[in-house]
Amino acid sequence: MTEKFIKNEQLNFIRKQVALIKDSKQKNVPQNVLASVIDLANAKILDLFPNTTREQQELLDLSRLTTDNEYEQYIRRLSDFLLPFPQITEQQLKKMFPKQKKLKLPDLANIDHSQLTYLSWNDLRANKKFIVYELDGKLVGIECEFTPTSKKNLCSFCNCFGEVAYFSTVTKAKKPKNPDYYKAIGNLICADSSECNKKITNVEYLTTFFKDSLGI
Ligand SMILES: [Zn+2]
Repeated sequence: MTEKFIKNEQLNFIRKQVALIKDSKQKNVPQNVLASVIDLANAKILDLFPNTTREQQELLDLSRLTTDNEYEQYIRRLSDFLLPFPQITEQQLKKMFPKQKKLKLPDLANIDHSQLTYLSWNDLRANKKFIVYELDGKLVGIECEFTPTSKKNLCSFCNCFGEVAYFSTVTKAKKPKNPDYYKAIGNLICADSSECNKKITNVEYLTTFFKDSLGI
C-alpha cells in the first residue's frame, strides 16, 4: 500500500490539468491536438513528483483515461493519498501568536485538514487575519491586518480571480542603524481561505511571503 504523498495544492493542480483535457474534448479539437494536451498534462503532473515509486507513477498516470467517469475515479483515487495538514492544537496556536492576549481561535474541529495548504481564519472585530503554514517542516504563523475591498481581483496565493481583501503584515526585516524601521508587505488574498485552499495549485508565492515576513 502506497503511503500518502500528495499535497492539497498538488491535487488542485492535477484537477486543473484534468479540466483542461475535458475542455479540449468538449471543443472537439483534432485528435493529435488532444493527444498532445494529454501528454503535456501527464508530463506536468509527473514533474510535480520527482521522487515517486513506480506504484505512485501508475496512480498519477492519466494517459489511458478517456471517459468523464474515468477521470472522476482517477481524482477520487488520488484523494485517498492526500497528505493532511499537520494537526495543531489551540495551545500551539496561542504560543504561535503570543502578542494576542485574546486570540480568536479557529474552529479546529470543523476544519477539513485534508484540503488545506495553509490554515487561516479571521478575527473580524480586530480586522485581523491569521495564517499558519508548514515551512520547511515547521509550523509558522503570520498575523495580518486586513481591509475589505468590494472589488474582485487576483489573489496572490492561488492566482485566481475572486473576492479578495487587502492584507498587510509587518515583517521582521530590520535595519541595524534604524530601530524604528519596519517593512510591511501588502497583498490581495482571497477573503475566503477555504475557497483559496481549493484553488491554490502551487506554494511558490506563499513560501516566499512567509520567508519575507518572518525574515528567514
Ligand atoms: Zn486565493
